[in-house]
Amino acid sequence: MPRTVNVIGAGLSGLAAAIRLAGRGERVVVHEAMQQAGGRARSYYDANTDLVIDNGNHLLLSGNRAAMDYARTIGSQAGLVGPAKADFPFIDLASGKRWTLRMNDGRVPWWIFDDKARVPGSTFMDYVRLAPLVWAGKDKTVGEVIDCSGPVYDRLGLPLLVAALNIAPPQGSAALAGAIVRETLLAGGRACRPLIARGLTEVLIDPALRLLEKSGAEIRFGHQLRGIEMGDGRAHALDFGADRIALDAGDAVIVAVPPWIAPSLLPGVSVPTAYRAIVNAHFRIVPPADFPPMIGVLNGTVEWIFAFPDRLSVTISDADGLLEQSREELAALIWKEVAHVAGITADLPPWQVVRERRATFAATPAENAKRPGPRTAFSNVYLAGDWTDTGLPATIEGAIRSGNTAAGLALR
Ligand SMILES: Cc1cc2nc3c(=O)[nH]c(=O)nc-3n(C[C@H](O)[C@H](O)[C@H](O)COP(=O)(O)OP(=O)(O)OC[C@H]3O[C@@H](n4cnc5c(N)ncnc54)[C@H](O)[C@@H]3O)c2cc1C
Repeated sequence: MPRTVNVIGAGLSGLAAAIRLAGRGERVVVHEAMQQAGGRARSYYDANTDLVIDNGNHLLLSGNRAAMDYARTIGSQAGLVGPAKADFPFIDLASGKRWTLRMNDGRVPWWIFDDKARVPGSTFMDYVRLAPLVWAGKDKTVGEVIDCSGPVYDRLGLPLLVAALNIAPPQGSAALAGAIVRETLLAGGRACRPLIARGLTEVLIDPALRLLEKSGAEIRFGHQLRGIEMGDGRAHALDFGADRIALDAGDAVIVAVPPWIAPSLLPGVSVPTAYRAIVNAHFRIVPPADFPPMIGVLNGTVEWIFAFPDRLSVTISDADGLLEQSREELAALIWKEVAHVAGITADLPPWQVVRERRATFAATPAENAKRPGPRTAFSNVYLAGDWTDTGLPATIEGAIRSGNTAAGLALR
């Protein structure tokens, strides 16, 4: 009997691990608690809008190398859609000013010397002031390392970092912000082309499930792990309540569940314990023909607006402050801004507001320090998930890298 690697959780980290292992000819069984894969990145039919929507708009960048490699492997790269260049249109609701940030392709950032490409009102020295983030220590916040004011911070640093870290940047980990700056601004425009999955499940999840099935992997939905039987430094069996799977000597387990579940399976494991919400609002309306695929909004409630063929969708990060407001109030408030930005006079169209309370761990230095590596105290159990110590904030790229790392360890 060949050995089996059991992957617990069919979010992007678990799927990435499973794809890598199945690709190496390993026998893989994925156990997912829900009836649907994708975890925090999933699509579903929504009756309010009569549309298939994503739980949240998910932005990737062309330089997210692990995510691009994953999309290539599952054959869905064409489903990641975005402009040909790293162009980011913005509008400032306070001043009414609109501009487009245009990064040039190469690593040398010529765009910061070009006042038609850079942030309005900035000089190239303002960009140099972000540099201390790149070498910041792990115990520092962004606010301790750079001056969180001025045109480049207000019009680029703030929208970039709040989206990537999902926390008010001054409180966020400077080391995680530094990783973002290294992998985006310093990597050049070729790495910063924004890409959006035209349906999260259709592009990033279903093709992975199909490839896994084709590779002979088994996927068991509604199969929630309740506990792991441990002894002599290794896992011996998986307890699913109604059934139990005994592990053979060579078998391995990759635990790819969210941080709030992991301690119930691996007592004593260190996990981040504070979270931040993300709010998404979806409006069923065909966007105006000249509306860009995405636009950053400053000085409003809305932070980013994404255009899909059948809807306009809004993302608001670090959104704990919006959790108590009624959904109706929120929809009306957000629509007012969207209609203004898009130049639409229509009344509120059919809408949905999705509030993910625990969208990501809070990317503070203290929470970042709690993230564990991929190894556990048990020789045949590994960890994956966007909350493990990837060096990145909680993102798809981090989740996929963590799955790849855990798979690599299980393969050894
Ligand atoms: C609204 C929103 C917007 C976001 N926007 C972006 C973005 O623009 N760009 C970006 O890169 N990232 C974004 N993210 C983050 C991204 O979604 C996550 O980083 C990524 O999906 C996490 O994947 P994961 O596999 O680590 O965890 P999860 O997706 O949480 O997967 C864990 C899986 O484990 C399953 N599970 C739990 N317990 C058990 C059990 N006991 N047994 C079996 N299975 C179990 C769960 O059901 C789930 O399917 C966003 C997240 C949200 C919520």
